Amino acid sequence: MKKSVKDIDIKGKRVIMRVDFNVPFDKEGKGIITDTTRIDSAMPTIKYILEQGASLILMSHLGRPKGEPNPSYSMKPISVYLNEKLKTSDNNIYFANDCIGEDVKKLALSLKAGDVLLLENLRYHKEEEKNDAAFAAELASLADIYVNDAFGTAHRAHASTEGIAHKLPAVAGFLMEKEIEYLGDAVANPQRPFVAIIGGAKVSSKISVLENLLEKVDVLIVGGGMAYTFFKAENHSVGTSLVEEEHVDTAKKIIEKAKSLNKNLYLPVDNIIADKFDNNANIKTIPNDEIPDGWMGMDIGEKTISEINNIIKLAKTVVWNGPLGVFEMPSFSKGTFAVAKAIAESDCISVIGGGDSVSAINKAGLSDKMTHISTGGGASLEFLEGKELPGIVILQDK
Ligand code: AMP
Repeated sequence: MKKSVKDIDIKGKRVIMRVDFNVPFDKEGKGIITDTTRIDSAMPTIKYILEQGASLILMSHLGRPKGEPNPSYSMKPISVYLNEKLKTSDNNIYFANDCIGEDVKKLALSLKAGDVLLLENLRYHKEEEKNDAAFAAELASLADIYVNDAFGTAHRAHASTEGIAHKLPAVAGFLMEKEIEYLGDAVANPQRPFVAIIGGAKVSSKISVLENLLEKVDVLIVGGGMAYTFFKAENHSVGTSLVEEEHVDTAKKIIEKAKSLNKNLYLPVDNIIADKFDNNANIKTIPNDEIPDGWMGMDIGEKTISEINNIIKLAKTVVWNGPLGVFEMPSFSKGTFAVAKAIAESDCISVIGGGDSVSAINKAGLSDKMTHISTGGGASLEFLEGKELPGIVILQDK
C-alpha cells in the first residue's frame, strides 16, 4: 500500500502537488474553461491539505506547448477559477508566470498556511517530459513534501510525476489513492466471479491487457472491433469487418491460453452488421458469428446482450474497458449502452477504465452507479496490463 497525504504530518509545511488540470477551453480563445471536472475532482485533496495548516503549490501540464512558453496554453485562467473556489479572508491564491526560477522560488517561500500558488504550465519546459533531474530538483526546491494526485499522467516518468519524488517525501493524493485501490485491488484481489469486458477498435492496442486479465479473471468478454480478429482466428467469415491480419495469430494464442487456463473467453454470438461504415448504412442483425461478404460487424446483437447481462448478474467484480460497437453512431450504440446499464443495475464492484467506456457511461447518465470510474485512459490500461506505473512505484509505501 502506498502512503497517502493522510499518513504524514503536513502541518506548517509547504506541499507541492502534481494535479491534472489539463482542462478544455472555449474554441474562441476567450480563456473560458468549458469543463471544470478535473479541477473539481482534485478539490478534496486540495482542501484537506489547506485544512491541515499547510501551504500548497499546484503544478500541471495543459495541452501540448512543445517545450516552450505559449500563451494559448497558459494556466492563468485556472488560477482565476481557483481563486473563486478557494479564496477566503485568511488566505491568498497566487499565480506564478513560470514553474521554476528565482521569482517562483521567492513566491513559494513567502507562502503562509492556507495560501495556494499555481505554477505556469510544466510543459513550457522540455525538461519536464525528459524527466530532467536538474529541472525536477528545481521543482522540489519549492516545497517540503510532494503529493501526486494526477493518475492520468502516472504512466509517464516525467520530472513532475517521477523525478521530483526522488527528492522529497512523496505520497498519493485522494484521487490517486482511489485509483490504486480500485484498479489495483479489483485486479489483484478480486471478489469472484471476476468478469472483464474488453472492447474497442483494435487487438493490437490491448494485447497485454487481454493476456494479463486472462490470468486473473473468471470470464473475459471480448467485443467491439477487436472481436472480428478473434472470429478470423476461429476461421469464421468476417466480411469487411475491422480485422488486424497481423494479429490473427495473437488472437489464436489468446484463445489457446484461455483453453489451457480453463477460462471462459466469451465472444459475441450474434451481430449487427452494415454494408458500410456509416450510421445510415443498410443494417441487418444476423443470428450468428458468420459475417457475409460485403458486410461488416458494427455492434453486438440481442442474444449477445442478453448473455452478457446474465454473466454480469452473477459477477462480483466487473472491469470494463472499450465500447462493444461503433457507439458514436446511434445505429450501433445499443450494445455498449446495454452493457453500461447492466453493470449499473448489478451490485458488483464495477471499475470502468478510461476513454470511450467512460464517455458512454456519462452519456447514459449512469456514472454515479459505478464503483469507480478511472480518470486516466492510458494509465488505467497500463494498470490493467499489470505494469508498474513510474509515478506510483516511486511513492512511499505504508
Ligand atoms: P479503443 O480506443 O481501442 O477503445 O476503441 C474505441 C473505438 O472502437 C470507438 O471509436 C469505436 O467506434 C470503435 N469500435 C467499436 N466497435 C467497432 C467495430 N465493430 N468496428 C469498428 N470499430 C469499432
